[in-house]
Amino acid sequence: MEQFPIFLNLKNFPCAVVGGGDVAFRKASALIKAQAELTIISPEICAELQELIEAHKITLIKQDYQAELIEDMRLVVAATDNETVNEAIYQYCEANKILINTVDSPKYCRYTTPSIVDRSPILIAISSAGMSPVLARRIRATIESSLPQALGEIAQYAGSLRERVKQQFKTIEQRRMFWENFFSSSIVSRFRQLKAEQKEDIVDGLIKGEKEQGEVWLVGAGPGDEELLTIKALQKMQLADVIVYDRLISQKTLDLARKDAEFICVGKQKNYHLKQQEEINDMLVRLAQEGKKVCRLKGGDPFIFGRGGEELETLVEQQIPFQVIPAVTAAAGCASYAGIPLTHRDYARKVVFVTGQNSKAGDHPDWQALVRPYQTLVVYMGLTRAELIKDELIKHGMDENTPVAIVEKGTTPEQKVYTGILNELPALTRDNPIGSPALLIIGDVVKLAGKLNWFNPEQLEEGATTFNTYIKP
Ligand code: SAH
Repeated sequence: MEQFPIFLNLKNFPCAVVGGGDVAFRKASALIKAQAELTIISPEICAELQELIEAHKITLIKQDYQAELIEDMRLVVAATDNETVNEAIYQYCEANKILINTVDSPKYCRYTTPSIVDRSPILIAISSAGMSPVLARRIRATIESSLPQALGEIAQYAGSLRERVKQQFKTIEQRRMFWENFFSSSIVSRFRQLKAEQKEDIVDGLIKGEKEQGEVWLVGAGPGDEELLTIKALQKMQLADVIVYDRLISQKTLDLARKDAEFICVGKQKNYHLKQQEEINDMLVRLAQEGKKVCRLKGGDPFIFGRGGEELETLVEQQIPFQVIPAVTAAAGCASYAGIPLTHRDYARKVVFVTGQNSKAGDHPDWQALVRPYQTLVVYMGLTRAELIKDELIKHGMDENTPVAIVEKGTTPEQKVYTGILNELPALTRDNPIGSPALLIIGDVVKLAGKLNWFNPEQLEEGATTFNTYIKP
């Protein structure tokens, strides 16, 4: 271990920052946050630092550094832009037993400041012993995103219960059990949604040793690229006891979930039987009634052609608490990764999402409404209906030369984009080995794909710009 981690109490602790620029400002802000008794020494002060000085109780000494200015200090930051001065500050501090940090010079530091994740009273500090602050900052970002924002409030709340729990449970083992149950209860997962009385009820139940009812989180996993998951989705995936997921969810996405969770694939496929959906609904209810935290993970956004609403209705009937976590839907993900803006001032002012599969026999889309000028049409689950879609759109007045794109496995490393014109749509699907999932985008915006394609630029060279041809694999 290169350095020894400590958390320092800076109240009534005389500290100085020597320097008046950006870096001095950042260092001073951090010290003020920790309630240090702060002096700033510099002949010139940047505007931000000036504001900080005005807003807080900070002593400003507007002159060049001299050793006697810091003789009463216990902690000093050397943040001037002059290395010789910084070194002199360091030498003085070392000789006079003052803690010294010299900006950007690990060798002139008695202490270094870690990157921190601040959910006070919880504080996580990450240090690279000054070797790579950027790496430490990246690690910090990873931790930051995996911890609930309410962590600090939860810790405060837990602190307020400590005495009561101590009274209630005599042995350390009983208390440990209580806290284990507390931190896996819905107090943690729904802290900011619960009212004070509801939290009280849950705590009372936990003290009596009652088992809490589970809950269901309907979580959108986005279109494929696991890095498109939202922070909240990731947090839910890491808290869940059970992950109930669809076939479309990639292994890489599942790898981000809690390792010891139970994984259940409910393998939804096209043309799946209604009973299958009922079985899923029942399974969610049963798991929650067993007290489990269930993450129902769905491709894309759960409320866009995801039957998320139906799954929730059953939960409502059974009075099971739930949350819905939205996500990037396939239309947005595929369009972005194919370089096709869904709207564009020159080409489309509206965008319509439709499904190619209708749940009830005899249910037909309003074709006329789908054929409007300056409109982009996105068809989910439409690949096997390419012929019908082409015929109906042309019959209802859409130009047969309207550009179309098929995005296969959008946002994943296997993404392929096929472009052509509406008239060629059935041929496009016949002549190419297009696998599932795939999305159709129809409209003039597709013309931009050739220009804006950033994700797999080796594709789409000619087809996207001329639209009288299409790309064969
Ligand atoms: N709830 C999902 C859609 C579910 S319907 C969402 O919001 O995205 C399933 C259909 O979505 C597929 O048939 C396909 O048309 C589309 N889809 C989902 N992921 C896709 C992907 N990565 N690439 C292309 N199409 C996709």
